[in-house]
Amino acid sequence: MPKQGYIIIRGIVQGVGFRPFVYARAIAHSIHGSVWNTGSEVRINAWGDNFDDFIEDLKRGTPLSIIDSIEIHPLSGSPPDSFSILKSHDGIRTGLIPPDIATCPECVHDIFTQGGRYEGYFATSCVNCGPRYSIIKTLPYDRERTAMDIFPPCLECSDEYSDPSCRRHHAQTIACELCGPVLMLHTGDRQVINVSNPIQRTAELLEQGNIVAIRGIGGFHIACIGESSKELKNRLGRTEQPFAIMARKEWIKKETMISHEEEEMLQSEISPIVILDKKNSRAHDHISSLHTLGCMVPYTGLHHLLFSHLKAPYLIMTSANAPGYPMITTLNDAFVKLTGIVDYYLTHTRDIVNRCDDSVIRNGYIIRLSRGFAPKRTKIFLGEKAILGTGPELNSTVTLYTHGFCITSPHIGNVRNPGTYGYLKETIACLRDLMQPDISIIAHDLHPQFLSTRYAKELSEVTDAVLIPVQHHQAHIAATCQEECIGIAIDGVGYGSDGTIWGGEIFEGSAPEYNRVGHLMPVLMPGGDLATTWPERMLYGILPDEKTKELLLTRTWTEKDLLILEKQVSRRFNTAITTSTGRVLDAAAALLGICRKKTYDGEPAMKLESAAFGSSPDTWEIPLTRIGEAQVLDTQSLLKKARDLYLQNPFDTSAIKQIAASFQYNLARGIATIACNAGASAGINTIALSGGVAYNEMIRKTIGDVAQQNGYTLIVNHDMPLGDGCISFGQCVFAGKKDKL
Ligand SMILES: [Zn+2]
Ligand SMILES: [Zn+2]
Repeated sequence: MPKQGYIIIRGIVQGVGFRPFVYARAIAHSIHGSVWNTGSEVRINAWGDNFDDFIEDLKRGTPLSIIDSIEIHPLSGSPPDSFSILKSHDGIRTGLIPPDIATCPECVHDIFTQGGRYEGYFATSCVNCGPRYSIIKTLPYDRERTAMDIFPPCLECSDEYSDPSCRRHHAQTIACELCGPVLMLHTGDRQVINVSNPIQRTAELLEQGNIVAIRGIGGFHIACIGESSKELKNRLGRTEQPFAIMARKEWIKKETMISHEEEEMLQSEISPIVILDKKNSRAHDHISSLHTLGCMVPYTGLHHLLFSHLKAPYLIMTSANAPGYPMITTLNDAFVKLTGIVDYYLTHTRDIVNRCDDSVIRNGYIIRLSRGFAPKRTKIFLGEKAILGTGPELNSTVTLYTHGFCITSPHIGNVRNPGTYGYLKETIACLRDLMQPDISIIAHDLHPQFLSTRYAKELSEVTDAVLIPVQHHQAHIAATCQEECIGIAIDGVGYGSDGTIWGGEIFEGSAPEYNRVGHLMPVLMPGGDLATTWPERMLYGILPDEKTKELLLTRTWTEKDLLILEKQVSRRFNTAITTSTGRVLDAAAALLGICRKKTYDGEPAMKLESAAFGSSPDTWEIPLTRIGEAQVLDTQSLLKKARDLYLQNPFDTSAIKQIAASFQYNLARGIATIACNAGASAGINTIALSGGVAYNEMIRKTIGDVAQQNGYTLIVNHDMPLGDGCISFGQCVFAGKKDKL
């Protein structure tokens, strides 16, 4: 009995080889009709005896597709003679294209197949791999709406494109040496180097110790061999910051403690930077002075070819932008910003429409949500109205909610300079263009002076959207757990509802109603941001007494400097009050002489964690007190205890490691104890944990252990960053729930 139907498929069904998949299944089941893209959807007219089997097959989708729904509607008329793929139409946007996808094993095989059409071609891709988000201008996903539109396919590429038996059937990024993007090598003074194989030449230049800017999928990297790392650090003026490396998998396995899951993640279609514990924590100090190493494997054709010419086991590969700034995407921008830093530029002629930095993951938790992960789509129903979350200030992302899904952008950076502010606006424009929502609500940070807050206000005037401010740490918890819970938000700094700076918070409730039932002891932060850069200021802010002064005098502090600091604290001049967990860890790092100046984000706390690595902590008494209704962990007492121990043996490295471990451990126990107490009195048995400090393995595990021992379930989000990359998502959740009240 012939059956027929008009089928609508929603989800991530464009840019994942869905139309050719539908075509192949239709032919296999003798189905007549057609398939086409509309907006973000795939639509099919189908006639045939095997209609039901055809539908069953469609439900399986392609490896990279995500099907939200398959609807079947009545279809009239008579079937055409065959099945065909039709031109796309504009239409409703409920789904999305996938993030950029690492070059698949088949394409890598093609690149290294002698005499093959793709031999040695750096931009080889197929329906299962290649750039997507970074090249798309708008939906539906077709070549003419991507950065590939300026490369008309040659005859052979056209043949493969229209061949249903080919892996590149309807692959929008199909390209070869003859018709696709080309590579170019430039000297440091911008002259083109004519060379038949720019990648091979780049490998030689790298081996000779040169530093080369390499244009990738979502922006420029700076690459060099390990021996040149010191030179690179000097040129960048970043002598302490760990670099990420790109290495062969065998080398990574030899040098790090990589788990099976981490190995899979490393070489997945996401191919992020995976932060791994070194086998020997002191090894590769010139790349990272921490006990960890950020590793990735080659993930584009260009990388695979480069490594095939390279004898070195790994390359340092760091994003070419200054930390917190947007990725450099154009050659001109690279010329301007990297003069004096790189010796050569290896670039290609495919435009980067949307920037995308490398994603970073540690212990299964996302540190930087970017290439391969983002745009990240989360199924969550927050009502009928479209919501925009403009994010915090640092490590920002933005999130757009529409039609039952949150779409979170790639990592934007620190939105406190014109460049990153511009990138924030560009990213919002891109998401609005892809999804075309009618934004009714704009959620933003409580901080009145953030640029992301300012933009929320500007945009609300244009769109008539309602503004909903969301407290930073409540956004962390809303991003982690949508049910009633005890929420622990431990991070750097965020604007609190009482106008002070929060960062070690325990809440009870669910979005949008949270009670602040606990926090760290409010302490002084002399000099505001200066105390972040110079953590010894923080140490004095927490312990402003003679013993701290004596200690600081044994270091580089002068009597005069100390007098100024003392006055600043006693008069509370330019001295903020904070409950930040990050700042307390900074103070401990400063006390122990582990980090006296912060040169990159999170440095003191990360170095404290590294120093503590491998030491087993002592159990200290947990000093709890109360301020109003809230239970408070007395961090001053904890730090005093650490100081007393330190002053007994200030030059004993193993004693210092022990104190570092004990301090972290007991801080975590204290925070977890407050959360458990709050859970007991509220009758709640779920604890949600978020915030940048939760990346600290000992702190996260200790909180988990205490929670478990007391019968609580601990929720930590594996799908969103624990740091501020989750804030925009949390803002949307909070605002959506608030609007429904
Ligand atoms: Zn492929
Ligand atoms: Zn071609």
